[in-house]
Amino acid sequence: MRRARRPISPGCAPRSGSRGAPRRPAKFRSAPWSGAATRSSARRTTREFLAIRRALAALDTDRLSDYTLYVTLEPCAQCAGAIVLAKVGRVVYGAVDEKAGMAGSVGDLLRHPHLNHRPEVLGGVLAAECGALLAEFFRARRDRAPA
Ligand SMILES: [Zn+2]
Repeated sequence: MRRARRPISPGCAPRSGSRGAPRRPAKFRSAPWSGAATRSSARRTTREFLAIRRALAALDTDRLSDYTLYVTLEPCAQCAGAIVLAKVGRVVYGAVDEKAGMAGSVGDLLRHPHLNHRPEVLGGVLAAECGALLAEFFRARRDRAPA
């Protein structure tokens, strides 16, 4: 019997820099990408990626087959790779990313026939609302950036 699918984390925006939420040191276990992260690589890590790593660590597992990842934006290549490697059961995303989306826009890592895991994918859920959230996020971030 499978457990009910539970959400991992909302959001798919890149992780904020020093002006964003305070960072907590992360402990990663059982993940193939769990090598030491440098400060610069941590800055490029997206929230999806962090949510997956934290879920794997918190559950002390190497797969998230019974979980659903909810994100505002179509996963990029980094996140799609993490989703496949962590064997996330289902991905629900809002806005499509025509420049970097890897759930069908630019490519489709999530349903690639040669990969050993293909999550269930549901895209375009509340796409307009998600797009508006992302536009506001990046507008605020630009406004805070030093000139
Ligand atoms: Zn991503």
